[in-house]
Amino acid sequence: MNAPQTDTYRDDALIGGAWVQATATDDVENPATETVIGTSALCDGSMVDAAVTAARKAGRGWALTPAAARADALAALARALRSMRDELVDVTVAEVGVSVVNARAWHVDLAIELIESASANARNYDFEQELGNSLLLRKPVGVVACITPWNYPLYQLAAKVGPALAAGCTVVLKPAALAPLSSYLFAEATIAAGLPEGVFNLVPGAGSVVGSALATHPDVDLVSFTGSTAVGRQVGADAAAQLKRVCLELGGKSSSIVCEDADLKSAVEASVDSAMLNSGQTCSAWTRLLVPAHRYEEALAIAGDHANSLVVGDPQSEATDVGPLISAKQRNDVAGVIDAAIARGARAVAGGSSRPSEKGHFVRPTILADLDPSDPASQSEIFGPVLVVHPYNGETEAIEIANGTPYGLGGAVWAGTEARALGIARQLDTGQVDINGAAFNPEAPFGGWKASGMGRELGVAGLEEYTEITAVQR
Ligand code: NAD
Repeated sequence: MNAPQTDTYRDDALIGGAWVQATATDDVENPATETVIGTSALCDGSMVDAAVTAARKAGRGWALTPAAARADALAALARALRSMRDELVDVTVAEVGVSVVNARAWHVDLAIELIESASANARNYDFEQELGNSLLLRKPVGVVACITPWNYPLYQLAAKVGPALAAGCTVVLKPAALAPLSSYLFAEATIAAGLPEGVFNLVPGAGSVVGSALATHPDVDLVSFTGSTAVGRQVGADAAAQLKRVCLELGGKSSSIVCEDADLKSAVEASVDSAMLNSGQTCSAWTRLLVPAHRYEEALAIAGDHANSLVVGDPQSEATDVGPLISAKQRNDVAGVIDAAIARGARAVAGGSSRPSEKGHFVRPTILADLDPSDPASQSEIFGPVLVVHPYNGETEAIEIANGTPYGLGGAVWAGTEARALGIARQLDTGQVDINGAAFNPEAPFGGWKASGMGRELGVAGLEEYTEITAVQR
């Protein structure tokens, strides 16, 4: 596949409503074909300064814009994005390698839905609340730096930029270096929607340059970061040094617990699908499957069959389930993790590290069994299409295994009754739990415990992250 019918060769940043050329660019690769499909700007510190200054300048006016008018602007932005839907899907498939079916549903449509949700929340939220003799004023926190990863680039930026603008903040976005093209389209949509100059600014570039400059910038009031736990720690430390507000959405290692009385087949198959979604590059994926010990072999057979039935290949094909990983490095890292786990005694019930095709960064959907829950493959985020299956004896042990990682982002419980599943959900130290395959709720708070981060995105909780309170006593 080649470049989509969009100007994907970019060398600029959006600063104060104008496209400003950078002096250097970085290539963007299609991970399925390993060909260059575009470029993006490599901005420097002075461009970061200019973008923060532009956001600060636009901040007072945007903060004083009535919430209903901000809601209208966000609705116009959602419409502009909707009119670009096909282009957004093409670019997302090309730069991420996600299958076109998943690009439509999870990357593009969901991102537009999040902007619509932010619009509705700006319209309906009570920015002034009475409390006894106090009037609580919820004010925008100010200039927000959004730093996003490559795995769901459009969704991630929408989850930040929508609520930040709804709250009355102005934004400087640094998109992921590996998948910046959909962020350029988003920036074009902000112009088409008529957002005031400087309210949204885009500064692509390296994390160590642009990301770091934003995280340490004295005129940035809040950093909203999604990415790895290692970089999140650095961003958190940078923000703490200036007592800057920070919201961190980090890695995960989430468990899917299948109870005795659950429908084993559908629970196991859904867990495999979760682990393989987006080629396994989903922070909240259920990458550990916990099944009753006496049904372990049965569960492994179901998981293996289902993993083998998934179509791996050209992400542009409607029939494809699993595309490539984002880069050669990611592919090699994941293959290395699989090989090391097998060397420690893991049984590969499906998949393995061998390449299914010579071109593209593909890894076969892999099911690993017979590892202790303390094994690194069951403790660390792999970020590839790998599911680790563990047997358990009794619910208490299942809960202990599920809680026994450094992370706490997602999770699932499958049970014959909601009451039983809820009883387990109440004991899981994690930000989200889905019972019996319940649908994703884009209004529900999303975020992590422990090494999965701090703060919440989406819905009203997401909007409140971008506010400060002034209590006025009368
Ligand atoms: P990453 O941490 O390498 O990079 C994330 C972003 O931070 C990129 O834009 C990068 O350029 C930037 N960055 C790098 N160094 C920086 C620095 N010193 N200061 C500021 N910014 C810097 O992560 P990634 O590889 O792009 O994404 C994958 C990771 O993201 C996985 O660990 C995944 O679990 C996590 N993730 C979490 C969530 C969530 O909501 N919890 C969602 C998606 C992805």
